[in-house]
Amino acid sequence: MEIEVESFNLDHTQVDAPYVREAGRIETPQGDLIQKYDLRLLQPNENAVPTGAMHTLEHLLAGYMRERIDNVVDVAPMGCRTGFYLIVVGSPELDEIEEAVVDSLQEVIKTEMEDVPATTARECGNYRDHSLFGAKEYAEEVLAGFKE
Ligand SMILES: [Zn+2]
Repeated sequence: MEIEVESFNLDHTQVDAPYVREAGRIETPQGDLIQKYDLRLLQPNENAVPTGAMHTLEHLLAGYMRERIDNVVDVAPMGCRTGFYLIVVGSPELDEIEEAVVDSLQEVIKTEMEDVPATTARECGNYRDHSLFGAKEYAEEVLAGFKE
């Protein structure tokens, strides 16, 4: 059996980050749609978010995206550290997702250290590896890219 992974067929040399793109959908046997989006923050193979900044972005986007989009299943970091996958029950429009990403990144810039959720050894799998400073720096860079 050949497994099709949508993002493995994407030509990463032809994309222009930042962007939001549909990256596949599944219809459950009950008829619900589960949609996956590619939230690309940085240009693939040219730049990548360092792990501490990526990790803090992950913790912050987990809350900020759920506040803005209904029925979020997950906001998961890409292993290449150039973006996140957003998985949602339903199929919100790309404009709505992009607005939520932009709003969330603006929220990241205003976040204080004590407001980063789950940064203890009990709550996180690598609590020492966080950088709110880095998260803010990269949020600024991505926001500038969305304005272009
Ligand atoms: Zn963590």
